[in-house]
Amino acid sequence: MTDMISEALDMLFPRGIYCICCGSILDGSRPYAVCDDCLGKFSWITEDTCSVCGKPLSAMNRKRRICYSCAEREHSFDKGYTCAQYGLYERAIVMDLKYRDKSYLTGSVGRIMADRIEAELGADLPWDAVTWVPVHRKRLAERGYDQAELIATAFMDAMAEKTERTERPGGMPSLEGLLERAQSTRPMKDLGLMERMENVSGAFRVKREENVRGKKILIIDDVYTTGATLDACAIALKAAGARRVEVLTFASGGDYAGTRGEDDPDEGYDRKERR
Ligand SMILES: [Zn+2]
Ligand SMILES: [Zn+2]
Repeated sequence: MTDMISEALDMLFPRGIYCICCGSILDGSRPYAVCDDCLGKFSWITEDTCSVCGKPLSAMNRKRRICYSCAEREHSFDKGYTCAQYGLYERAIVMDLKYRDKSYLTGSVGRIMADRIEAELGADLPWDAVTWVPVHRKRLAERGYDQAELIATAFMDAMAEKTERTERPGGMPSLEGLLERAQSTRPMKDLGLMERMENVSGAFRVKREENVRGKKILIIDDVYTTGATLDACAIALKAAGARRVEVLTFASGGDYAGTRGEDDPDEGYDRKERR
């Protein structure tokens, strides 16, 4: 679509007028372009999160502040943050982003993430650089955009807006594509945890070590499941000399022992390839 046509469409159908979930008309004051009804249906995360990966904790784990999966296995990243538990509504947004060409949703997702980080850390961001989990070149060609890159960009825009109001003392982190895919990975859906880790380890490469060495880095992705993909990114960044690696996702799976009941957001990753 040319810029002129998209500008004309923006004038006819301004963003933020319709709820991105149900399509009902908004009064314009809603920060995420989500109506009150739909906002109430999200499983927002406010407290009682895993001190390692950031996912919401089951009642059993609240005292020790660590989820079943982090208690079982160490991660290569240092800390995680997430905004909502991955349920029906969260899934609808992620699937729209990945498979239904609704890239405009990234603006809302980025703003939600910025509010979550502000609530958790305040406006003074502790990172030198913010990056994202890159899609494979082949998928980028199919989809036409990298949703994690768009979310990261929207997140930084929203943080910059907050900074104007709060005068962040340390200056903003840079937004950079620090990682690239090294090879095509096999469909994650059919793999167990160990196979997943093997499948993604070595799947990412740092583009330029000098942009990573000695830095504190935040990686952004849409969904957190086992953490295997984000671990693989963290391993590559740390091998290149990153001092600290944190991760931020829109939604995370729940806290279950084993993999019981875990809705697998990676399902569909390779829908097109397996057809
Ligand atoms: Zn709605
Ligand atoms: Zn955890």
